[in-house]
Amino acid sequence: MRLRYGDEEEAFRAELVAWLEANVPAAEVLRRPKRSSADLPDWARAWQRTLFDAGWLVPGWPPELGGRNATPVQQMIYFEELSRREIPRSLNPQGLGIISPSICDYGTPELRERFLLPTLRAEIAWCLGMSEPQAGSDLASLRTRAVLDGDHFVVNGQKVWTSGAHHADWCMCFVRTDPDAPRHKGISALIIDMKTPGVEARPFPELSEPDYLDFNEVFFTDALVPAENLLGELNDGWRLTQGSLAHERAMLWIDYAYSLERANQALIDLGDEPGVNGRRIGDDPVYRDQVAQSAIDAQALLCMGYRGFSKFMAGRSAPEHSLLKLFGSESVQRSLALGFSAQGAPGLDQDNLGPQMWRAGSWATQWLRSFGGTIPGGTSEIQRNIIAERVLGLPRA
Ligand SMILES: Cc1cc2nc3c(=O)[nH]c(=O)nc-3n(C[C@H](O)[C@H](O)[C@H](O)COP(=O)(O)OP(=O)(O)OC[C@H]3O[C@@H](n4cnc5c(N)ncnc54)[C@H](O)[C@@H]3O)c2cc1C
Repeated sequence: MRLRYGDEEEAFRAELVAWLEANVPAAEVLRRPKRSSADLPDWARAWQRTLFDAGWLVPGWPPELGGRNATPVQQMIYFEELSRREIPRSLNPQGLGIISPSICDYGTPELRERFLLPTLRAEIAWCLGMSEPQAGSDLASLRTRAVLDGDHFVVNGQKVWTSGAHHADWCMCFVRTDPDAPRHKGISALIIDMKTPGVEARPFPELSEPDYLDFNEVFFTDALVPAENLLGELNDGWRLTQGSLAHERAMLWIDYAYSLERANQALIDLGDEPGVNGRRIGDDPVYRDQVAQSAIDAQALLCMGYRGFSKFMAGRSAPEHSLLKLFGSESVQRSLALGFSAQGAPGLDQDNLGPQMWRAGSWATQWLRSFGGTIPGGTSEIQRNIIAERVLGLPRA
């Protein structure tokens, strides 16, 4: 589905596309294996800086922060063109997509001055310290403790699943500052230097890709954090968690939709290959039906995304976020499972998906990775709870 907007918007698209065609690094550079989501190799720093300098990193932001005051429709076009071409804006997505907007919205002028431009220019990388061993979906039960002692907070506790923590320079970390307040009211956000004595990041491997170390446990033992690194008001960190997650979700559906379109194309190409019984995979009528269903799902996802966006533009509440996250992440997962099962055993070890997917790897690896999409930012079960309560009006669980 390719929507056409007004002349001004299409002129914006043409300018962006021309700029991308002249400046995007070669495909083999973009596809180099990543070490983690906070590791910024020289080429990635240079690319993010190039986007920033040209006003194409955060086009919706004002020019003094490297943007061009792009309208919401122009921003949508921007994400469409990047997703369609699989172009990353940053190799530290949590720093750019979640933490920099949070600092922009909630930081003091000093924090904004100190952290915003270095983050946007890829001079520093971030991790996001939210989840703990006993606090994931139920984030409000987090226990990492920060006690204000003079001009420092003393932090003790543990985070887990902290993407890229071992390569990050800084962490936006949610801590409990008032253990006596109701759960949502005693939480604050701190900006923590990952080199602080008493902060230890321990990376651990993923099932889907044992050589790729992104997840970490992060331990805090009497770590001293300057009081001026408080982001937002003391004990008002819950407001930031809602803001941070909203930033994370805002245009995620566009990525899911284009990932699904690419996966569907790969499924069509796979149809020419021999399957488990030696016959051409595409001759199996069940396979053909399932590929057709997946193509329909991709179009449905785009329609639902654009409908949510239109409602947002008209100032109406849009429950589509949860529907899009759930349907997008699970549709991608279904399409990858289809390729994997059609191939049978060879799907376990062949690099069959080809360069058109966002990372090289077998169908099986891609399928295992796809679980990563159904968990962060609210698991599929949590999205179903939200849809049941807020969209369908069922009683609260
Ligand atoms: C790829 C990836 C990157 C991540 N990066 C980060 C990061 O950088 N920083 C960070 O802080 N965290 C990160 N996380 C962690 C992520 O936020 C948590 O995994 C997520 O919030 C779920 O929490 P949990 O793992 O503790 O699972 P739990 O909350 O313990 O859930 C376990 C299971 O129970 C289900 N469940 C829980 N509550 C309910 C309920 N009320 N109703 C029905 N079912 C329920 C869940 O759906 C799930 O299936 C990342 C996770 C992934 C997969």
